Amino acid sequence: MRKTSTEAYVMLDAQFNIVRANQTFVDTFPVLPGRDVRIGEYLPGLVDNHLKEMLESNLQTVLKGEQLEIEQIRHTDTGDITLCVTHFPIIEGDKVTGILVTVRDITKNKLAEKNQEALLKRYNLATSAIKLGIYDLDVVANVGHWDHNLYQIFELDPETPVNMELWQSFIHPACKEAVIEKVQNSIKNKDSELELDLRIITAKGNQKYLLNKMLFLPDEKGEITRIIGANWDVTEKEKAKEELLNSERKMRALLQSTREGFYLYDPDLNLILINEQGEKFAEMRSGKVPRIGQHVTEFTRPDEIESVIGILKKVLAGNAHDIERHVQANGRSIWLHLTYNPVREDDRIIGVCLVARDVTDLVHTREEMTAARTRAEQSEQLQEQFLANMSHEIRTPLNGIVGMSNLLLNTPLNEEQQEFLKTILHSSDTLLFLINDILDLSKIKAGKFKIEKIPMNIFQVVEEASAPFRAKAQEKGIRFSVMMDPFIPKTLSGDPHRLMQVLNNLLSNAIKFTNEGTVKLEVEVVDKDDDTAWLDIAVSDTGIGIDDEKLQFVFESFAQEGSDTARRFGGTGLGLAITKRLAELQGGTISVHSTKGQGSRFIVRVPYDIMKDTKSEVQTIVAPKKENLDFRGKRVMVVEDNQINQQVFSHLLKDYGIQVTIAGNGKQAIEILEAGASYDLILLDLRMPEMDGFQTLAYMRQKLKLETPIIVLTASVLRDERQRCLDLGATDYLSKPIPRPILQQRLSQLFSTPSSVDAASSTPALAPSSQAVNEPQAEVNTSVREQGREIDMKTLLSLTDKKVINDVYNNYIQVVPAALEEMKKNTLQQNWDLVSEQAHKLKSSLNVINIKSLTALINEVEEKVNKHQKPQDILPALENGIKIYQEALPEITRKVTAALA
Ligand code: ADP
Repeated sequence: MRKTSTEAYVMLDAQFNIVRANQTFVDTFPVLPGRDVRIGEYLPGLVDNHLKEMLESNLQTVLKGEQLEIEQIRHTDTGDITLCVTHFPIIEGDKVTGILVTVRDITKNKLAEKNQEALLKRYNLATSAIKLGIYDLDVVANVGHWDHNLYQIFELDPETPVNMELWQSFIHPACKEAVIEKVQNSIKNKDSELELDLRIITAKGNQKYLLNKMLFLPDEKGEITRIIGANWDVTEKEKAKEELLNSERKMRALLQSTREGFYLYDPDLNLILINEQGEKFAEMRSGKVPRIGQHVTEFTRPDEIESVIGILKKVLAGNAHDIERHVQANGRSIWLHLTYNPVREDDRIIGVCLVARDVTDLVHTREEMTAARTRAEQSEQLQEQFLANMSHEIRTPLNGIVGMSNLLLNTPLNEEQQEFLKTILHSSDTLLFLINDILDLSKIKAGKFKIEKIPMNIFQVVEEASAPFRAKAQEKGIRFSVMMDPFIPKTLSGDPHRLMQVLNNLLSNAIKFTNEGTVKLEVEVVDKDDDTAWLDIAVSDTGIGIDDEKLQFVFESFAQEGSDTARRFGGTGLGLAITKRLAELQGGTISVHSTKGQGSRFIVRVPYDIMKDTKSEVQTIVAPKKENLDFRGKRVMVVEDNQINQQVFSHLLKDYGIQVTIAGNGKQAIEILEAGASYDLILLDLRMPEMDGFQTLAYMRQKLKLETPIIVLTASVLRDERQRCLDLGATDYLSKPIPRPILQQRLSQLFSTPSSVDAASSTPALAPSSQAVNEPQAEVNTSVREQGREIDMKTLLSLTDKKVINDVYNNYIQVVPAALEEMKKNTLQQNWDLVSEQAHKLKSSLNVINIKSLTALINEVEEKVNKHQKPQDILPALENGIKIYQEALPEITRKVTAALA
């Protein structure tokens, strides 16, 4: 079709022949090839067969008087064309005489229509997707038109007619009035538009949030007659907003309700979050209330800025930080614990979180606990001191009683008096036992009892322990037997002293509670591996036995079977309690079987390490025979100010072939050493004039760099004094008076050559290490039988040279009374330094011939001097001392005379 602008037409007669046609029709009507549109032609005959039928049928219809309009799509080379073909019947009278056919090209209209449809579809899709509903309201007629979306938003039946009132009825009561007023105002003020946040309740009762935009359209007079608008459903967005707000509110509530101060910093150290408590703490620290957005430096105390920035940077580098700070403000003083943590997101540090906690109570509790611990430690020290003192304080007067009673026993007495005296002696003995037991027990309880592991020969320990009981059993007329398992390893490692104590306790009970029959001691190996032998040490008797009821309590302190046991058998009720603890301290157990009237069997099971190296030195407390020891050629320097002690040491050591050099004090000793002399051993007294033992020791070790063994001699049993010596470099320490066997043992240890070791190990076991002999407990455990003796002259009488004994005795009887008198004089004049010096001198003399109550008394005087007591508090003791000396002198003289005879 070349021209489509002009309408084409053709007029036909009732036989469908062409009566007239315009050029457009001629040009555009699609005829068969070779045919023309000519007047008189039968129109359906000009076209294709399939068109011909349709055309004829249409024309037939029109012939009946109907107008017919059809749309036809015609395919052309340039594209499809849409034609509108209208058939009008030409009616003359009541007859159809012809037909007018018009053909219009409506391709463009069709396209526009199609585009509009697509546009509308897109528009509807978009508005429904974003939930946008459109309305149009005729204000004057109060008739509204809502689009489909708006009906959906209001969940209203789309058939429902709408107007202003209906719309208003959906508005939520909370904002209804305000909304209506705003709309009315806009109409009145002739505003052009209005934006509203609407909350509605839909027809189905759901709450929704809408964003409402209204355009007010005026008529020509300027009156608002029409409102067009859009409602945007923002319910989901609002809900999300509300949820966000809620969670933020929750977080705020949480932060505000905690007692911790909370701070959040961004990586530039600006504050991005803080709670109320955080503000309070910060204000206390710096006097400034931090605000969000401020840099940390703006609310930090100037003197703290550097350290705070340092910490925050450290935390930003990934290291958490903890610190305690003391804060003081408005009369309040608190402790804050600050915890800084890096805040991470996807492995990136995006800030710092600081939590500040008030730990004032905690800090105070901690301080109190530390103070309490210090107090407890101090009281433990006091307790230890108290125990050491108590052993002296109680035993001193008891020694007096025992000593005096013994002396009295040697004077003429009638039978009754002798009986009384024996009772006194028996009671004192019991009391001494009790004190020793109590001290032992309290030491065990305080964990101060040391268990040793040294080589020992258990056969010899058992022999040693049972010897006195053999005699006792014989006295009582009961049998006593010892059975040793031959498979017990010869050398075990353990604590022979504790084993001795266990055996003593069990055997003394067995003998005590048995009047006829047998007491048996059996030791057997019950289990053994390469390293350990488990021994059962059983003591059985055929004595009085123990009631079943009482049996379970025998290992408790002060447990005696009956109220009359102490009276009938003596004892303290502590022996088994101590035995049990000793067994346990050695890793063992104790058990008992007993039948009333038939006897008892106590079994101690202890593990002992088996010594692989049989050559190990098994030491002894029983003196090895002197002639076995030969330390010829060894050189020993004795640094000691007391003449008697000088003589004693000199002779003792010379007995072993040792060359002895005596130095009267530390200064002399150092002069000798500096002159180039060298020694194998130095024995160093602690208390000396001019330069005492501590100073001398320090000088020798630090200045002279001397490596020679130095054994310190001390009269003190105090742990810290001895520890001080070891710290200063002493090789060992020995408590004065030093028993000959102990000195000999030390010499053996220091100078041992293979032959002297053999000599030592060939002697019986029971080996004290330096500790065991010199620990206070060793002093506590000193046999009560020995305690009973007031005068100890062992050191003097062990000397072989009679001349020396005589010299020492003569020196003694001059020095001791003179020193006591001097002390009295100096006490009166309050020359306390001289009193101390003389006390020390006196004690050195007493080491050789020890009048025990006098030694105790001098200790007491020394202590009183240290405590700055008045002369009148000290003088009676000194008077008493003179008396004690005078009373002891006859006995001393008697023993010396006997030794010299
Ligand atoms: P005590 O110093 O009284 O002997 P122990 O603790 O050694 O203290 O013993 C406690 C009590 O156990 C004794 O008083 C005694 O009643 C009973 N007991 C201990 N060993 C025996 C025994 N071998 N035979 C009978 N009773 C015993």
